[in-house]
Amino acid sequence: MNYDAIIIGGGPAGATAAAILAQHRRKVLVLEKDSFPRYHIGESLIPYCYYPLQRIGMVDKLKQSRFTKKYSVQFASIGGKVSQPFYFFNHLDNEVALTWQVTRAEFDTMMLENARQLGADVRNNIRVKSAIEEDGSVKGVVAQDAAGNEHVFRAPLTIDASGRNGFFATRKGWRIHDEKLKKVAIWTYFKGAKRDPGYDEGATTVAYLPQKGWFWYIPLVDDTVSVGVVADKDYLYDQQRDPAAIFRREVAKNLWIKDHLSTGTQFGQYQVTGDFSYRSRYCAADGIVLTGDAFAFLDPVFSSGLYFALLGGQLAGDAAEKALQENDVSAGRFSEYGEAFCAAIEAMRKLVYAFYDREFNFKDFLTRYPHLAADVTDCLIGNVEKDFSEMFEAVKEFADVPAPLPHGRPYIVSEKAAG
Ligand SMILES: Cc1cc2nc3c(=O)[nH]c(=O)nc-3n(C[C@H](O)[C@H](O)[C@H](O)COP(=O)(O)OP(=O)(O)OC[C@H]3O[C@@H](n4cnc5c(N)ncnc54)[C@H](O)[C@@H]3O)c2cc1C
Repeated sequence: MNYDAIIIGGGPAGATAAAILAQHRRKVLVLEKDSFPRYHIGESLIPYCYYPLQRIGMVDKLKQSRFTKKYSVQFASIGGKVSQPFYFFNHLDNEVALTWQVTRAEFDTMMLENARQLGADVRNNIRVKSAIEEDGSVKGVVAQDAAGNEHVFRAPLTIDASGRNGFFATRKGWRIHDEKLKKVAIWTYFKGAKRDPGYDEGATTVAYLPQKGWFWYIPLVDDTVSVGVVADKDYLYDQQRDPAAIFRREVAKNLWIKDHLSTGTQFGQYQVTGDFSYRSRYCAADGIVLTGDAFAFLDPVFSSGLYFALLGGQLAGDAAEKALQENDVSAGRFSEYGEAFCAAIEAMRKLVYAFYDREFNFKDFLTRYPHLAADVTDCLIGNVEKDFSEMFEAVKEFADVPAPLPHGRPYIVSEKAAG
């Protein structure tokens, strides 16, 4: 069978792009190497996830789900003092203000099932091994099923949504790491740890550590909390190498975390990852477009990963539909996509840089510029299309604000040849 589009990876980015194309009655094939449900990190949504989720008919399903409701984000000092929470409903007077802390095994399964219900041909346990490139354009993929059998699938367009594996960017050597965001994360899970009362029960807490390290504290279903520490590698590994020992050492350094975990029991492994901040040199080539983590990932702080996966999936799905309609899947068709996606990521990237700058903290910033609180909140909730120039001019008094990265546009062969 020939398809209009093949999607590599059935995570949130791939499931969103598949749903959008299926809504347009495209013949779309999703190839996912794992069987679902499967574990994945990245459990906290932000309010603007609402819009891509609404496009693909997922909002009602989330409202009916058992996922923890998230109304706010709060920040806890090393001494254990908690900031006034940023309640999303103080800023948004509609249902976008409510978001969720999700167990990814369940959430990703719901997303992929949704794409399937909309008409996508979704296959699990099948890994894409190579791209079929003919006349400089991707024309399909070769994939291997669990029994080791190879399958050839053809389509004018492939969407790479393979997450951090970065199917295409890795093979092409396109991944460029963000040199200033070289962090490591160590995380695990607790049962029976403390939850704050009322609306704060489902809040994400960002708890500070020395030298700009921090903890995430994300309350999930089944009385489970996801807790992770993120910091520079040199800081985390300066004395010990055992992740569990490092984690416990850092817990003792933040009184809010220490107190909240005091009633809890840790379970499962301590997981470690690093080198997670990057962007691909290109977002598309002839016949292929990259989205979600397969294109770029910023940093776990502010929980923007799923939002960019959903937004990227939506933008890539829309761009793919337009390209297919006009029968032109060359890289240049994805220039607007690359511009829009990179611009969205850049707004958040500036705030992430400020967060890690030793001279910056939200309290001092908002004491000096109280009228910019709405801008900060807009950025944190994912309203990244807003013009933040005034806010980032003010941030410059506290922290270095990075220039936009020059890369992330399509790989247009004629332009390369010309210069
Ligand atoms: C430490 C850490 C903490 C994080 N915390 C948060 C958070 O709190 N909130 C948040 O929003 N985000 C968070 N993130 C980010 C979030 O996990 C990702 O941004 C998100 O999962 C990206 O979705 P995706 O669909 O692009 O990729 P993925 O969710 O990774 O999906 C990609 C899929 O592709 C499949 N695949 C890969 N290669 C192939 C292949 N060759 N063939 C077939 N299938 C393939 C994989 O099996 C996978 O299912 C965190 C990330 C890290 C590293």
